[in-house]
Amino acid sequence: MSAPAKLPTEPKSLRVGCIGGGQLGRMMALEAPRLNIQMSFLDPSGENCPAAAVAGKTSTVLKGGLNDENMLRELAKSCDVVTCEIEHIGTDVLEKMEQEGVNVQPSGRVVKIIQDKFAQKEHFAKHGIPLPPYVNIPSADAIRDAASKFGLPLMLKSRLGAYDGRGNAVLKDTSDTSISAALESLGIKSEDGKDLPLYAEGWINFHSEVAVMVVRSSNGETSAYPAVTAIQTDSICRVVLAPARGVPIELRQKCEDIASKAIKALGDGASGVFGVELFIAENDGKLDVLLNEVAPRPHNTGHYTQDACAVSQFENHLRAVCGLPLGDTNLAVGAAAMVNVLGAKSGTVEDTMKGSNAALSMSRATVHWYGKEGCRAGRKMGHINLTADSHGELDKSLSELLKLEDISES
Ligand code: ATP
Ligand code: MG
Ligand code: MG
Repeated sequence: MSAPAKLPTEPKSLRVGCIGGGQLGRMMALEAPRLNIQMSFLDPSGENCPAAAVAGKTSTVLKGGLNDENMLRELAKSCDVVTCEIEHIGTDVLEKMEQEGVNVQPSGRVVKIIQDKFAQKEHFAKHGIPLPPYVNIPSADAIRDAASKFGLPLMLKSRLGAYDGRGNAVLKDTSDTSISAALESLGIKSEDGKDLPLYAEGWINFHSEVAVMVVRSSNGETSAYPAVTAIQTDSICRVVLAPARGVPIELRQKCEDIASKAIKALGDGASGVFGVELFIAENDGKLDVLLNEVAPRPHNTGHYTQDACAVSQFENHLRAVCGLPLGDTNLAVGAAAMVNVLGAKSGTVEDTMKGSNAALSMSRATVHWYGKEGCRAGRKMGHINLTADSHGELDKSLSELLKLEDISES
């Protein structure tokens, strides 16, 4: 493979092109001007995407699909570096463009490994990263084999296109009806001669879920933010607690070490911020660490870094993909939390904002609204960060905030 194009050695304003202009792109765009970085975006919603509203007058926002070769080339044309805020993108095109000298960080090869969750598992297994038991499911028959090997319930996962648990189905028994219902819920149809785009994982009885943001510069410098607890409801991240709670310090360190090792194992082109999701598995009262999955971009569980660390995951992502020195990843406060603002049941912005508006009166609470075009029940519309000097102080304001957020949901 040809070497990636070199960035300018003399200080100058850099332009970063981001594939996707959702909330993650928007939060990158908010950090970019301080670093004298200009940004451009490619998003199916064009000027209506959350990033466009904050990107500034020097920004170009292209409207188009994230797999569209012409549009990806158009984005790359005026940029020093191309990056992404989502993994469901045209990696074949990116690899081709890299051969032609376009600087893509993280590289198409790295995103391609990650976007296929089974290929990701295979890659990490080869590099000795501890994982839940997993197996490929090329056919409906293989589901029964997997169930007899790993037991029930069995977790079925789509290899491609998954997010917020939408590519997952929990199988409780292996009757024809349950298997058909699971495949149907995943939108997977059995076609003659074609493998199912599916794999299975053994069920993990976890004590808790932990996440670590790892940042790796295009020159190889790597640093990990602290391990945090991620509390999920209905497979959507609801609350993050930093540092991780109820996890002994040596296990927190182990999470950070495994996360850094996994990202280094992705090899050349693994640059930017990576969200690493881990399980603290519990077996006979003994706790251990398993890697769930990796995202090649800033991550929901790293939003707390905006208000709790000297350098946020978004700034560090930009620094990393531009080959600039990385910033401090330590917690700069005693404790922090993040609460996602999910669309209210009524689906209106007014109801959704009730809790976050009330949170404006709380000390050390910071509201981050994403400016999405449509509000839907359960959709991620924003988040609120809390910082405190101690866990005790944090818990008090967190319970106050969760009561306010309940107002929004009712
Ligand atoms: P994301 O939005 O994080 O990309 P995703 O759709 O890729 O999510 P996963 O992270 O694979 O889905 O799983 C979503 C959630 O389902 C996990 O955070 C965890 O709570 C639960 N889960 C996943 N795998 C297992 C497993 N093997 N055993 C038990 N629970 C699991
Ligand atoms: Mg995922
Ligand atoms: Mg996940």
